[in-house]
Amino acid sequence: MERRRSPRPSSETATSPPAAAVEADAGAVATPAAKAPPAPRTKRGVPEGLWQKCEGCGATIYRKEAEEMQNVCPQCGFHWYMSAAQRIAQLLDDGTFEEWDANLRPTDPLGFRDKKAYAERIVAEQKRTGMPDAVVTGTGMIRARRVACGVTDSSFIMGSMGSVVGERLARLVERATAGKLPLIIISASGGGARMHEGILSLMQMAKVSAALARHSQAGGLFISVLTNPTMGGVAASFASLGDLCFAEPRALIGFAGPRTIKATIRVELPKGFQTSEFLLEHGFIDRIVTRKDLKSEIARAIDYCGG
Ligand SMILES: [Zn+2]
Repeated sequence: MERRRSPRPSSETATSPPAAAVEADAGAVATPAAKAPPAPRTKRGVPEGLWQKCEGCGATIYRKEAEEMQNVCPQCGFHWYMSAAQRIAQLLDDGTFEEWDANLRPTDPLGFRDKKAYAERIVAEQKRTGMPDAVVTGTGMIRARRVACGVTDSSFIMGSMGSVVGERLARLVERATAGKLPLIIISASGGGARMHEGILSLMQMAKVSAALARHSQAGGLFISVLTNPTMGGVAASFASLGDLCFAEPRALIGFAGPRTIKATIRVELPKGFQTSEFLLEHGFIDRIVTRKDLKSEIARAIDYCGG
């Protein structure tokens, strides 16, 4: 009667846990509900791919305009994704590319499954990208200089390095050494070592690095080009071992992602951490090279190094 607002005082003690439980429930329900709508609504009558939101400045860009600039944002200069095939076409002289080891195909030695069986994922990725795995290797000419060249593609299971990527790169390096060819590897990997192949992926880091050490001992030149993103076991092995390390502007380059590092060491990370510009300042890379200058810069570096 007096001051009790609650009709059931006995429940007061129990109030917080049920309330929290309800909130958690509401949250749990809200998540799938919030996730569900975007799927059917993404297109809104605009032809797919005509416009693209720039990752760098957030502006909506007419895709054709960016394509004419080699997939670089005309507003802010951010370097967008480029497939391995596009990079090869951009970097090598027309009609000079000859692919090596294109017959190597990934297998599923662990019978690995995450959301999907790895064996099925491989087939789906091959269909979608038209590539057997995440790397293309071979030889070609850069302004009439013969090179051995490898390019990883971040759209194939995040450009991660499994047995095929490692084997093709190791063979590429060995042929460069044997043929005394300058070696160019362009990296794009948000995935690092491919978890679906477990330890077999991890050992590729050592295998490719060892081949690079022999290339170096034989006096061979290796130019590594880091693009957005180059992370994990790829950044921690061959991509960082160039005699010269070039990077595209504003590329994300690092080992663990910024969120993981922040959660582990609980320290506010410096501004621009893991960008090309930050890494240039700290001596991790040698030069930032825009896409339109890459071919000329590599040709100049080869000449300078007597390759
Ligand atoms: Zn932009």
